[in-house]
Amino acid sequence: MPPARRRLLVSVAHPDDETFGNGSTIAHYAAAGVEVHVACATRGEAGEISPNSNATTETLGQVREAELRAAAEIMGVKEVHLLGYRDSGMVPAEEVDDSAAFVNANEADLMVKLTRLIRDIRPHVVVTMPPDGGTGHVDHIRISEATTRAFKLAAHPGYIEPGGLTHSPSKLFYTEIPRTVMQAWMEAVEEVNPKMATFMREAGIDKFGVDDDEIAARIDVSKVLETRMKAIACHTSQDSPFDMLPPEMIPKVLGTDYFTRAIPAWTGGEVEDDLFVGF
Ligand SMILES: [Zn+2]
Repeated sequence: MPPARRRLLVSVAHPDDETFGNGSTIAHYAAAGVEVHVACATRGEAGEISPNSNATTETLGQVREAELRAAAEIMGVKEVHLLGYRDSGMVPAEEVDDSAAFVNANEADLMVKLTRLIRDIRPHVVVTMPPDGGTGHVDHIRISEATTRAFKLAAHPGYIEPGGLTHSPSKLFYTEIPRTVMQAWMEAVEEVNPKMATFMREAGIDKFGVDDDEIAARIDVSKVLETRMKAIACHTSQDSPFDMLPPEMIPKVLGTDYFTRAIPAWTGGEVEDDLFVGF
């Protein structure tokens, strides 16, 4: 009997998070025969529109959903699952008064949706955004918390509301960037575009990342760099954070993906080079 197909769920907040944050991981595992699913909480309706795009505030959700689906196809995603919330925008959570905004989502309903998705897809590994959202965006923080909670609830036999058979994925990872890589990125930007470096510092981007010794897995994804770049190019309505990346930094920032591991909690030791170690 052939071995059972490995399954990966990547859970994010907005169209482009899957590509800007996890594009290489998705393409890498899809190419290796893993069944990859992407859950996306919103259609990114509140994103800033790039000058290169014809999207309007009215059409942006539709445009970004199409960009997400196009990128997903290029990366080899089996299915995109939209959770149906609205983008909360780049403001503090307490300033979001739209009841449909993801940050205001009813927690019980959100758990039913996410838990049912995990029970249906039955992933071995789940990847989501880090607890601080990576960029501090309120929707990133919410999807990180919600995915972490749903990961545990999906296995709970007493949690019957979502229906479906209980399922316990084996590992939960957060997408991260090691501080040394972030610093090297900042130094390189400083050299080629000091104005951009100042903007990044003022926006607090230079503070992103975690201490290098918190990294539990480091995946060489250099072979899918071309696919990743094609997927990034699908998101024309958004300015790519990699536009300002000096060419010599591309392999370092886009050729390796880094993760911390929440479940089972990583307590140090050898950094793994594969999210599916043990399968
Ligand atoms: Zn986002």
